[in-house]
Amino acid sequence: MKKAQDLQEILHRIDHRGYPAYKDTAGAYQFDSYVLSIDHVQGDPFASPSKVSVHVDGKKAGFPADMIQQKHTRIALADALIRKFGKEAQQYSHKAKGSGKSGLLSVSRPGQEVLERSACEIAPDSGNLIFRLEIGFPANGRSINAGELIRILFQFLPACVQKSLFYKNADQKHLQKVKELAQDQYYIRTQLKQRNLAAFVADGSILPRESGVSDRPMKQAVSFCSPPSMAVEIHLPNAGTIKGMGIPQGITLIVGGGYHGKSTLLKALERGVYNHIAGDGREYVITDDTAVKIRAEDGRSIQKTDISMFINGLPNGKNTKSFVTEDASGSTSQAANVIEAMEAGTHLFLIDEDTSATNFMIRDELMARVVHPNMEPITPFIDRVEELSYRYHISTILVAGSCGSYFYKADHVIQMMQYQPVDITESAKKEAERFSDMTKDKLVRKEADPPSFHRVFTAGKGSANERMKVKGMGKDAVSIDRDTIELRYVEQLLDSEQTMTLGYMVKYAKQHLFDGKKDMREIAGYLERMVEEKGIGAVCEGRYLPCNLAAVRVQEIFACLNRCRTL
Ligand code: ADP
Ligand code: MG
Repeated sequence: MKKAQDLQEILHRIDHRGYPAYKDTAGAYQFDSYVLSIDHVQGDPFASPSKVSVHVDGKKAGFPADMIQQKHTRIALADALIRKFGKEAQQYSHKAKGSGKSGLLSVSRPGQEVLERSACEIAPDSGNLIFRLEIGFPANGRSINAGELIRILFQFLPACVQKSLFYKNADQKHLQKVKELAQDQYYIRTQLKQRNLAAFVADGSILPRESGVSDRPMKQAVSFCSPPSMAVEIHLPNAGTIKGMGIPQGITLIVGGGYHGKSTLLKALERGVYNHIAGDGREYVITDDTAVKIRAEDGRSIQKTDISMFINGLPNGKNTKSFVTEDASGSTSQAANVIEAMEAGTHLFLIDEDTSATNFMIRDELMARVVHPNMEPITPFIDRVEELSYRYHISTILVAGSCGSYFYKADHVIQMMQYQPVDITESAKKEAERFSDMTKDKLVRKEADPPSFHRVFTAGKGSANERMKVKGMGKDAVSIDRDTIELRYVEQLLDSEQTMTLGYMVKYAKQHLFDGKKDMREIAGYLERMVEEKGIGAVCEGRYLPCNLAAVRVQEIFACLNRCRTL
């Protein structure tokens, strides 16, 4: 292998030359305690910055085995290292000056959730560590400024690496805490399954966020406290015994006056499929990790989804067993979202009335009398919610502010009162019974045929191509060549790095998987396994692995494939 010295020599040789001469620096160099690899060199100072990775031998990095052997602690450790490295790198970014992106040191910036990321990979057995980042190679105008890159690669970067990637230099107490939190969160997830709970919200949790644009905890918020009837205790491996609200599997209604914190609770549950960092306020808000937020999504495309469980006999005669549209309505989009979540293996629907299509959720009696059921294509969700629970073992947690019909169906009713949950199941049920004496002739629905999940596709003509560019647009969309996939309303997708991963997955699937034989479940399952076995990097077949990919759940893989308009 080349030595650090060799890199210095190359840099001295190409100083002041035209920018493309930087390409000569590509390759791996042995530094004192790590290997620096220049994986991809940018074409000019204004292009996206160069990709660099740092490789540290596991023995030298020295992180304890109990932090790296199990996946959940390993991901938490890697996340902590990314945050630390990012902080160190920040003070050096743009210290080296020049045109365009000269001097930029760019490291992945995780939000409040802990996700597996390509920015830092740790091998479970050896502890070998790879850290990936981007560096803007400095230039004056378009000519190489080698002196500045030498400062970056021989002063700034080594300082960041030393402080962040070696256990002996780390804040060991902090890392110990990170490990313990990950273990406790993992333990709660196993407890959910054992106790047949859909979710757990610990007493003392802070659910609301600082603002619509900040995901940090709100200061001076009312902290969460479980109603006594729903309280459960969990003995954590590290943090002792905690108490909180256990939401049982089944049908749970969250009601309450406007502005009393219903949506905030549901949002926290949506995010509870991921683990949160210490200090977030939602560390012990843990939801069944297959949970899917279901909402209306006017305008989305639907490709051969069997929505006949909810929609039948459309006036235009369209087949709802294999429904196709480029522009779905509120109700058809929400129906498709339900069926596709079933296909993706969910055990929990999370629904907020605020973002639902009313005609999909309910139909009141008077309307049913005036508009005859034969003239109504929609079987509302309320008529299927029990069937989904007992037949498919899919629970529902539903926020309802204005419609009481669900009281008849709910196993539990929680009222949010001034940001605190109160168990009103009994009184709500009683009131509902008294009320139903007044209304007769209930329409009884037959069970629906189970939806068919056999959907096969071929990738559109000319779409299977090595050089297709994957471009992310924040969290909102990703485009593969000219095909833009809208992901704005896939609400549990929270990081632009996840969107990028999905983009690469769609590209991979178009090239290798959509063969007109494999169905959607086989394809999503294949992508999930591939990443599970080979790491996130497996989705991108390029020569180097981008530093900006984050792991996604299989539910989001489905969501993305389902919104692809070019199959
Ligand atoms: P709802 O859905 O019941 O109408 P929201 O959940 O949207 O109410 O909450 C209304 C407002 O109250 C939001 O601005 C939210 O940030 C704030 N809020 C929610 N929960 C709390 C809490 N525990 N403490 C303080 N403010 C809260
Ligand atoms: Mg609301």
